[in-house]
Amino acid sequence: MTTRREELAANLAGVHERIDRAATDSGRAASGINLVVVTKYFPASDVDLLADLGVRHIGENKDQEASSKVADLTRRGDLTVHFIGQLQSNKVAHVASYADVVQSVDRAKIVTALDRAAERGGRHLDVLLQVALDGSGGRGGVAPEDAPALADLVATSASLRLRGVMAVAPLEGDPRAAFARLRKVADGIRAGHLDATWISAGMSGDLEDAVLEGATHLRVGSAILGSRPSLG
Ligand SMILES: *Cc1c(COP(=O)(O)O)cnc(C)c1O
Repeated sequence: MTTRREELAANLAGVHERIDRAATDSGRAASGINLVVVTKYFPASDVDLLADLGVRHIGENKDQEASSKVADLTRRGDLTVHFIGQLQSNKVAHVASYADVVQSVDRAKIVTALDRAAERGGRHLDVLLQVALDGSGGRGGVAPEDAPALADLVATSASLRLRGVMAVAPLEGDPRAAFARLRKVADGIRAGHLDATWISAGMSGDLEDAVLEGATHLRVGSAILGSRPSLG
């Protein structure tokens, strides 16, 4: 019988193989690509197993689930917690209390609230701007043309560190072309903010495209943990 640990280990190895191959194909070092394992819907026990297996970054997208799970971890000290879900301004203060990285910052109101909460808690947060790649902003995110001004606002916030950009590929169309657009936005922001070197892009289905377009952080859930309960 296969244990959960063995299952996670095998899936993780498969994803690392995909990353290594994509890195080779794009002439990049795999060491420059960080795997954020998205653990939403899966229990803290899985996260602890992943930490045992060498995972150092986890991603969560719902405040309530994330905060109780993080509190239950025995391996919290080994993990960097990334918040990757849509942010509502009334939840921001809570997210600032346990997340290390907030990847989904997409408007000025959120920047101000996050900075105030982080400062009050004596914490510093790494921040990525979520960029909308589908034109409509249906999956969240700042419009590419508005990203530079938002970047400036994060960069001048006392308790936030601007690290780069994040995006989800649109449901329709070629993910690689979308990630190429993200890379342009990232380049524009980095011209004015030298530390903003992170590009978070790519999930279970399109991580190769993201690596080809310069992603430094991949957010992979189902390819490692298995399929999530259907949301209908
Ligand atoms: C759930 C989620 C992922 C992971 O998706 P998979 O297809 O399961 O790899 C990545 N990014 C965000 C923002 C998510 O919400």
